[in-house]
Amino acid sequence: MKSEIKITGLRARSVNVPLEYPVKTAVGTVASSPLVLIDLLTDSGAAGNAYVFTYTPLALKPVRNMVEELAAVVTGMPLAPFVIDQALQSRFRLIGNTGLVRMATAGIDMAAWDALAKANGLPLVELLGGKARPLPAYDSHSMDGVDLGTRRAREASGSGFKAIKTKIGYATLEEDLSVIRAIRAAVGSDVQILVDYNQGLTVPEAIRRGRVLEQEGISWIEEPTLQHDYAGHASVRAALNIPVQMGENWFGPEEMAKAIAAGASDLCMPDLMKIGGVSGWLRGSALAEQAGLPMSSHIFQEFSAHLLAVTPTCHWLEKMDLAGPILEPVLTFKDGMAHFGQTPGAGIVWREDQVERFAV
Ligand SMILES: [Mg+2]
Repeated sequence: MKSEIKITGLRARSVNVPLEYPVKTAVGTVASSPLVLIDLLTDSGAAGNAYVFTYTPLALKPVRNMVEELAAVVTGMPLAPFVIDQALQSRFRLIGNTGLVRMATAGIDMAAWDALAKANGLPLVELLGGKARPLPAYDSHSMDGVDLGTRRAREASGSGFKAIKTKIGYATLEEDLSVIRAIRAAVGSDVQILVDYNQGLTVPEAIRRGRVLEQEGISWIEEPTLQHDYAGHASVRAALNIPVQMGENWFGPEEMAKAIAAGASDLCMPDLMKIGGVSGWLRGSALAEQAGLPMSSHIFQEFSAHLLAVTPTCHWLEKMDLAGPILEPVLTFKDGMAHFGQTPGAGIVWREDQVERFAV
């Protein structure tokens, strides 16, 4: 390996990828998967690849532009993710390193780690000092109603998943219950059911519904109320005998630390992008370890597999495939376990013909 590798450029492209199932939630639907694809070029010949998910096509252009603007900052820098992270953090101290800014800088961080792993000829997990191993994964579904919800649940348990997640928060508690009971009947008692309210309830309503859901053998209740309301989450947690899960909306380890201090949840699931890329995840995983919070991933299943394998409180990998059509299938699932780690880097390999096909 070259003693000092330098970054020679940064490329960003945008795609809008179709989804097999739209991601329906209690607060809105994601019909397609808008992604900004990042290629970080280096003088070692190894390019780092990563994608960020912008939730809405409206954010594609600004995030892509932000990444492209940052090419001027990182080009010429050593391929040293910590150094790059510090430079980008200080550059955005005054505007605030959150929102679209953090999404762009996190994507660059991911691409830098990927390039460094490739330059060393190692899977990311080994660069981080770990070893790849099969990880327990849950199949993540939507607000699918009874018919589609039970069909997807049956397919997932049939292919070996030991846990599935369904999004609820229907107009009434009775509808929530009918979906959960139909899924339970479809998968039996050996498959864990996780539920996600996507912030859809007030605190008193979350407690009212949660007290009924306690009888249904639910393994976690996710974001029962507004994500920034840590005190509200703590109230729900205190009132219920179901583990409260949250974390996908924490922008940076600094927000994760505030949520932990508030006692907001029993479990945690930072989003690789919002938490600040690989560098942010590593800091977050130390917080989770100290607080004793089992830590799961949120989307970004390819990178997250490598990171969960070096996360002391590793819990579940979320299988939600937002980039499948444009990626080679480096990450695979069998009998409810994620298999990865045979390829240098984080396993992001573009299918260029498909990238072109879904280009925006
Ligand atoms: Mg969620």
